[in-house]
Amino acid sequence: MNSTARSKDPTQAIEGGNTGNLGEDGATDNPLVFSGSVVRHAGAAGTRGFAVAPARQLHSHQPSDDGPHILIAHDLTPADTSALDLTQVSAFCTAVGGPTSHAVQVAYSLGIPTIVAAGDRILTIPDGMMCALDGDTGTLYSELMESDLAAAMAHRDRRTTRPRAQMSGGSTPVTLTGTITRPPQAAEVRAAGADGLGLLATELLFLGREQDLTDEEQHYAAYREIARAVGGAPVTLRTLDIGGDKDMPALGLPSEDNPFLGVRGLRLSLRRPDLFLPQLRAAYRVARDDGAQLRLMFPMVTRVEEFLQAAETAREVQAELDAPVLPLGVMVEVPACALAVDQFAGHVDFLSIGTNDLAQYLTAMSRTSADLARDIDPLHVAVTRTVRAVAETGADHGIPVSACGGLAGDPVGAVVLAALGVTALTVALPYLPDVHDALGRTDAAALATIRDHALSTGGSRHLRALATELLGL
Ligand code: PEP
Ligand code: MG
Repeated sequence: MNSTARSKDPTQAIEGGNTGNLGEDGATDNPLVFSGSVVRHAGAAGTRGFAVAPARQLHSHQPSDDGPHILIAHDLTPADTSALDLTQVSAFCTAVGGPTSHAVQVAYSLGIPTIVAAGDRILTIPDGMMCALDGDTGTLYSELMESDLAAAMAHRDRRTTRPRAQMSGGSTPVTLTGTITRPPQAAEVRAAGADGLGLLATELLFLGREQDLTDEEQHYAAYREIARAVGGAPVTLRTLDIGGDKDMPALGLPSEDNPFLGVRGLRLSLRRPDLFLPQLRAAYRVARDDGAQLRLMFPMVTRVEEFLQAAETAREVQAELDAPVLPLGVMVEVPACALAVDQFAGHVDFLSIGTNDLAQYLTAMSRTSADLARDIDPLHVAVTRTVRAVAETGADHGIPVSACGGLAGDPVGAVVLAALGVTALTVALPYLPDVHDALGRTDAAALATIRDHALSTGGSRHLRALATELLGL
């Protein structure tokens, strides 16, 4: 284990009731001290990071081109987030929303800190008021005095200059791959030393932009640009995952009472060959024309028959285009798929666990519910046991099992997933160094201890504290 790990027995300390230094905000080890007049808006942590900037309400009539702001909104859709101009927005805070919503997942891949479910009071913060947003603890601070502002800026600077392990240094127990939202980020994946892209969520490339998803050339141009930018490294292209909270108004899809349980992901692709075929054809053409190492992954799969139908369509396209055979896999994110994953084992080339949806569907807690924002828990023992079972089935059948979603980009979450036996993690670029650093602190004994605790019923708070202490994070 890395020498920074503390020497006392962390299991003892935590079982004795020490779950970390709880600060005023209910956050662990928050070093921020303000003068007292500051107003705290407690929300739920969306993406990590710390920003200090003037507030700007989403529906402001002020000109919006005067530098980075903390964007304040009642809610943001994934399309809103996808279209954010990062020269103008350094962070966002919403009154409602959930921490694993797709809006937050887009922010995660863009690397901006976010808070959700902070309550309607944030909507009264005037434009231009200096605020500090702490995405680690889920707290927005407004009405900062001069001295508070200095403290916030010093904290931000300390946080951003804290030394981080470079991706190139040291080995990790699992392969690390990246995930991106915008094509220009692909070159950074290569520069960061990640082993290609483990999740290219194709719908995010087009969300919020008026584009025709039935246009094969548009898919072709985007995939080719990305495959070239990663320089021949593998790219796992996830076919469109539309539905749930990701609407594409141009498609005119009927609204559903319960869209997260509706026609989402592969369910839609199988019903809409006009969307599915151009996408498959573009992917196979890029593999054929450029020799790109693509893999095709299908989202929101429930029954093995769905995979077999999609795979048959893919193979027909491949034969028709005289293109190379591409590995085919599924996202394991619906409990029915996870619990019956052995049915898939004889058919798929790889599996990727989507921790956001797996947690949502196993715990029956909506990813977008503000009321449940503090309750939805990707480290719930039901999730960890399911991940373990899927990893074991993969290992028994010689099938690689990766994991993606917010948990994979959280250093503790990444370590737990590695301990549970996944073979690769897909992490948004800005979080790769922290995850790499945390994984580099582990050894076989630490992973075994963390795995035992992750599979027991001690609770995720206990698990998080244990792993943090054990690895000196
Ligand atoms: C997931 O569900 O964990 C995942 C990676 O997919 P998305 O967040 O896009 O649903
Ligand atoms: Mg998902």
